[in-house]
Amino acid sequence: MPSDPLVAQHVLEFPGGYTRTTGPVIGRFLSELRGRRIVGVRTAEGRVLVPPLEYDPATGEPVTGEYVEVGPAGTVTTWAYVQEPIDGHPLDRPFAWATIQLDGADTALVHAVDTDNPKLLRAGLRVWPVWRDRPTGHITDISHFAPEVTKIVSTVRAEYRLQAGGALRVFLGGVARGVFLGGRCETCDKVYVPYRMSCPECGSAIGDTLELPDTGTITTFAINNLPDPRAPEVPFVSAYILLDEADIPMIALIGGVPAHEVRQGMRVKAVWVPESERTASMANIRWFAPTGEPDVELS
Ligand SMILES: [Zn+2]
Repeated sequence: MPSDPLVAQHVLEFPGGYTRTTGPVIGRFLSELRGRRIVGVRTAEGRVLVPPLEYDPATGEPVTGEYVEVGPAGTVTTWAYVQEPIDGHPLDRPFAWATIQLDGADTALVHAVDTDNPKLLRAGLRVWPVWRDRPTGHITDISHFAPEVTKIVSTVRAEYRLQAGGALRVFLGGVARGVFLGGRCETCDKVYVPYRMSCPECGSAIGDTLELPDTGTITTFAINNLPDPRAPEVPFVSAYILLDEADIPMIALIGGVPAHEVRQGMRVKAVWVPESERTASMANIRWFAPTGEPDVELS
């Protein structure tokens, strides 16, 4: 005669925790955690077990007693995402249980990886431990692991001096004399300014410099409303200027004209600082100002 299976649910719990001895190997591991170091133990075959064990699970041999510091970073090998953590989980927000092979270890340990983005999880994900404030010699001294920081948002202020080498030095030497130096690629028959030693299109070497007029045409421009130490006032206009006889435009400030009157096709000429103030730098060009010639139709 069939009968329903008998079911009883048992919950085994030690609410106050229970004390057990760790043995020397686990004891060493936990003591090192207190110092925020993660150690493994070397097996007779030379593998590093993390967490350390007293016996090599592969051979049953006792381990060597040589402890090796590993990590602290490691690589995720497998994972299970926990969308809704429950009591007793290491984090109270979505996270992943993962097997993590710490750098220098031959085995993986299981720990939590803090991420609210399950798509981030993959074999090979680099993770770093996040330590608790007060380590006590327990596996939970590592609160969890967190994905390696691969992106940051920061404000950047870079100040650098350009050491003008080769072509740029040649160009600035021209600017010191009040002349724009370009170079012609014999293969492409294009004139580049500032002067460069090889053609950006075909790579041919460019030999001699070519003196270009300091007049040109605005091809595009931008009205800037943020102050710039190089600009006379706000708003100011920066523009690409196609120097006469050149095939690529160079960028410069526009001056001597209200910003709203600047337009594409406008003819301009360089305004140089007085000869007595000139140095080998772009500061020699105060800006480009309109010549008053009729606008040019840009092709
Ligand atoms: Zn070329």
